Amino acid sequence: MGEAPYRGDQAGQWFWQKLAPSFSAMRTLPVSVRRRLEETYAFSTVTPHAKRVADKGQTVKYLFRLADGRTIETVVMQYDASARSRARTTICVSSQVGCPIGCTFCATGRSGFDRNLSQAEIVDQFLMASRDLAEGQRSLTNVVFMGMGEPLNNYAAVVGAIRRWAGPDTLNFSPRRVTISTIGLVPFIERLGAEGLPEPGHLPARARR
Ligand code: SF4
Repeated sequence: MGEAPYRGDQAGQWFWQKLAPSFSAMRTLPVSVRRRLEETYAFSTVTPHAKRVADKGQTVKYLFRLADGRTIETVVMQYDASARSRARTTICVSSQVGCPIGCTFCATGRSGFDRNLSQAEIVDQFLMASRDLAEGQRSLTNVVFMGMGEPLNNYAAVVGAIRRWAGPDTLNFSPRRVTISTIGLVPFIERLGAEGLPEPGHLPARARR
């Protein structure tokens, strides 16, 4: 947009670290820049369409609408601390619209396959839920790819999203906190093992959480 580079850094901080809900909320940017951002870019690739709270607030189910009108499901689950584990707030993200695998026990499988999600559509599920949680001073601790779709059938976008969340200039979210649920696509499992995803020890100290 022809602005000084530090304006980009400011926008990035508002977007990733401060979880701003919109371009207009990025208060350190001049109003004219915020307005041009709003006119030029979509703030998110997913839009909340419906939200349902269950289990006395422990589970929140989102239905997000995509730019092409399709919808996907995302679920946030809170687990209290137990003798064996710390308290967790886990997001279950979708990786595809529908699923081509067709497991008979699964409603998504019975609905057929529509398309892969983009990396941004996966990343934005995390960000939308995080903005919601931030209002209650909470944040996500874990991710599971167990929503709609077979994640390893959308390998590049899924790994791209994990890398994006892990970035030191984005969320510093450790890939060790991400679980991929798969029917067992062995070549992709082997590829994932050799992917070289950043580990906590390779991230700045403040990222090790
Ligand atoms: S792979 Fe997962 S999302 Fe796809 S049909 Fe089977 S259980 Fe459902």
